[in-house]
Amino acid sequence: MANNNLYLSHSSIQVFHTCKRRFKYKHIDRIKPKENLANKYLSFGQSVHTALAKYNLLTDETYRTVENLHKLLRKNWIRQGYESIEEERDFGLRALDMLSNYHSNPLDQGKKNLLVEEMIYLDIDGKFTLCGKLDKSYLRNDDSIETTDYKTGKNIEAIDTLQMPIYLLLTKSKLGCFPDTVSYYFLAHGEKITQDVNESYIKESIDFLWEISEEIISERKYPCSPSPYCSNNCEYFADCPEAKDSNLIIVNSLLEKDPSSLSNSLF
Ligand code: SF4
Repeated sequence: MANNNLYLSHSSIQVFHTCKRRFKYKHIDRIKPKENLANKYLSFGQSVHTALAKYNLLTDETYRTVENLHKLLRKNWIRQGYESIEEERDFGLRALDMLSNYHSNPLDQGKKNLLVEEMIYLDIDGKFTLCGKLDKSYLRNDDSIETTDYKTGKNIEAIDTLQMPIYLLLTKSKLGCFPDTVSYYFLAHGEKITQDVNESYIKESIDFLWEISEEIISERKYPCSPSPYCSNNCEYFADCPEAKDSNLIIVNSLLEKDPSSLSNSLF
């Protein structure tokens, strides 16, 4: 594989782990799917992220009003993926509520923003390009740097061990140093979880990313992993005969990496 054209991001690595064939179609062959998947959660998340990014870019405090934040949401609202007008409206009201809460008690304020919603590309020794969008890095009042990722889902989750090294490397490539802290900001809850970063943590985290990237670079066969979710989750479903083969779907379910999924029996 000519790796200098290989772009690895958190989402492309997730695709690789879900179905290597889909990864090949999408990130190596770059086949244009016949139709893109419309997903209300993606639309919702992207709309909120864009509104917050534009709000965070306002340097004049007088413009940082909740009314303007709501207007930014309405202006950047993505309508694709909702099943009905009622559903779209419910999601819209949820987003407004989320942003009102953020405005009344933002947990990511410091001396200044260092970057806001930037797509960053980082060449890794000519082997591949690491890429990803950082929501925000800012200088806290104690002069430490925090990189934060806004989460718009309902659940509070631990910081992903794969996202972590990507945040670290991309922040360093943009700001010239690693952040002191990485956080997930759960907007629906008005809560933040943080991970302090030190040297051994950086090494361990980045070594993990190198291991995964080596696995991806050395892959040659790109087997497919059909499942009952392909029709909803994969943009190549229409052109993938394996995804309609019920034998393959059953056999693939036996290959799940998590051994506990095979232990629903007493023997
Ligand atoms: S339809 Fe399913 S099996 Fe086929 S490429 Fe997509 S994810 Fe893989």
